Amino acid sequence: MRRLPQLSELIMHDIRIIDDRPVSNGGPMRAVRHWLSLGLSVVLGVFIFCGCGPVQSDRVREGEESKKRIIATTSLIGDLVGRIVGDTAELSVLIPPGTDPHGYHFSPRDFVLITKADLVFLNGAELESQLNVLIRMARDRARLLSDAKGLEPLRMGGACGNGHHHHHHHHGAMDPHFWTDPHRVKAWVRYIEQEVRAADPDHGPLYERNAKALLKELEDLDRWIEERVSRIPVEDRILVTDHYVFGYFARRYGFREGGALVRGLSTLSQPSARDLAELATLLDAEGVPAIFVGVDVSGELAERIAEDLGIRVIRVYTGALSPPGGPAPDYIAYMRYNVNAFVEGLIP
Ligand SMILES: [Zn+2]
Repeated sequence: MRRLPQLSELIMHDIRIIDDRPVSNGGPMRAVRHWLSLGLSVVLGVFIFCGCGPVQSDRVREGEESKKRIIATTSLIGDLVGRIVGDTAELSVLIPPGTDPHGYHFSPRDFVLITKADLVFLNGAELESQLNVLIRMARDRARLLSDAKGLEPLRMGGACGNGHHHHHHHHGAMDPHFWTDPHRVKAWVRYIEQEVRAADPDHGPLYERNAKALLKELEDLDRWIEERVSRIPVEDRILVTDHYVFGYFARRYGFREGGALVRGLSTLSQPSARDLAELATLLDAEGVPAIFVGVDVSGELAERIAEDLGIRVIRVYTGALSPPGGPAPDYIAYMRYNVNAFVEGLIP
């Protein structure tokens, strides 16, 4: 009988890898936190693994083992990878639909999946900031989509002059929300295709065909968005959001980012009372009719401001797709849903 998978060996191996590499950002406390969460995951991971269900037949097991194991961190990335590999690979998405990727902490299941993966697709640019320990673990199997050729990342300065508008700069933190611009998603698709072909050359022609079809759909989507947003007068194309999530979208389709509840590229910080008062003043002065808030974050603060000003809070999809059967179960549907929300909220 075949020797059962050497999970403990894999884990020990990966721990040694992690141990070899310095913790990139953060001091000793952060390292300790990483170690604690990692230790817990090892224990739970082994527990879950040993408690596994009935032994599968050899035939099924061999069929599954010939497939590459691919992981995508976000549901948006998972949808694109799935479109290219179809059922030729075993694809797992770590961050569930409807979950904010900025604040997502990995689970023991994620840990086990990563130890067994052939290829791991991540957004990068600190989107999955709580997954850094897993990213280091995946090391040479990890593919950061922020590295895709032709992506042209935008950067955001930390402290902006008057604090009212945020500006993209050539320095500062990289904006991780590339997917809000379908044109940049084309760069992702070409990169994903290249990497899955390298991992599984036998299916190369299929991946090429699938990627080509997807690129065509993205071009159609781009044209559809241009047509839809052309109904919004240029001076009314203003996006006020829960955090600065639609920078790439704004840049491509001629919108301004008019402010955000959390003035940053992540959902993880809390706005001060003064920030909120300033935002309310700005919204009032500009006559902004709606605040767009991700379905995966609390809308409480936005609701309070909107009520005071007599404007609307409109929910959109930001860092994740909806579950299957929801209004944004795949990337194209996600973009269409949001664009329709912008048009509905901004047309006077
Ligand atoms: Zn975000």
